[in-house]
Amino acid sequence: MIKKSSSNSFSEIIHFIKSLYPDENPVPLHAPRFTGNEKKYVADAIDSTFVSSVGKYVDRFEEMICEITGAAYAIATVNGTCALDIALKLAGVQPGDEVITQPLSFVATANSIAHCGARPIFLDVDRETLGLDPTALEDFLRSSTKIKNEACYNSTTGRRIAACVPMHTFGHPCQIDSIAQICDRYHLALIEDAAESLGSLYKGKHTSTFGLFGVYSFNGNKTVTCGGGGAIVTNNEALAKKAKHITTTAKVSHPYEYVHDTTGYNYRLPNLNAALACAQLEQLDSFIDRKRELAKTYKTFFESLSIPFIHEPEHARSNYWLNAIILPDSEARDEFLKVTNNANVMTRPVWRLLNKLDMYKTCQTDTLTNAKWLEEGVVNIPSSVRV
Ligand SMILES: *Cc1c(COP(=O)(O)O)cnc(C)c1O
Repeated sequence: MIKKSSSNSFSEIIHFIKSLYPDENPVPLHAPRFTGNEKKYVADAIDSTFVSSVGKYVDRFEEMICEITGAAYAIATVNGTCALDIALKLAGVQPGDEVITQPLSFVATANSIAHCGARPIFLDVDRETLGLDPTALEDFLRSSTKIKNEACYNSTTGRRIAACVPMHTFGHPCQIDSIAQICDRYHLALIEDAAESLGSLYKGKHTSTFGLFGVYSFNGNKTVTCGGGGAIVTNNEALAKKAKHITTTAKVSHPYEYVHDTTGYNYRLPNLNAALACAQLEQLDSFIDRKRELAKTYKTFFESLSIPFIHEPEHARSNYWLNAIILPDSEARDEFLKVTNNANVMTRPVWRLLNKLDMYKTCQTDTLTNAKWLEEGVVNIPSSVRV
């Protein structure tokens, strides 16, 4: 249907999106909004001279993340990727292991697995949530693995499958309770890549709190940003302490001596960035209210054009980080991308499936039927908080 009238409906879409963002040209995909205490807190951090890795804003940031998510512990990190690296490492992922994840994600999800010396296995997503499909997970584990000494082994490669990393795509919670149950039964550590889903709830419980670890990103394009930043959340006190320790150079606490008790990392979030993060987090509720309002407006509009708009799954409350529509095929998608970007409305296709990237193209997959279908048609449309 869209094919026949595509040029008409595409210009209608451009016109509509421009009317939502009258003061922005080009209309960005996702621009940050610094409308709260950002300047005040950053200036305060500068005045305090604590601009680096210790300071009250780092502590406050970690407290705020706990408050927002309901997690018992939060550890600030310099970005979301290194938060994922550390979460996987502390979950016990070792060189030679394998880790299950979804191919429809930002590259960092798979990179973190590789950073641990492990290999990703890519399993399909479901079409409703765009996240890891619990049925695909269960099917793979039932048909292709064996349990030995309370550990899961891949029957094809003989390697241990140590963990599972689902991702809450565009802020929409995946079916995380089913995934958590399956991971439990198969002895897989569950680490949620919640980089995109701050403020998103599954059955009233915050994404990132269903497994051993959850991970956030505060990169410039995320719902709230501090330039660059990340966080690890967990309910496990011992692991939280370890995470704090190894992300802060594994320095043994002492007033002046430099003794480090293991090979640590310098993954600390500077206080300067934390100041920005605190000011942004104060506005999270209002950002999400406005993003949800925008999504509602988009949904009504795209329904009137019979173009599928990706909306929050049942039982979930999404932060609607990035809005997305599904075009009928890759031809219509490419045409849409060209026409909208030429008209200064920024749109982009969903990520190239990770199993197609050079470094992951020999990794094991299942049929990836849904992921392949979504890759053909999904595009993201402007989603900044409207001012
Ligand atoms: C943004 C993002 C990350 C990485 O976060 P950075 O802070 O950019 O390192 C990881 N996973 C997903 C799914 C993301 O969208």
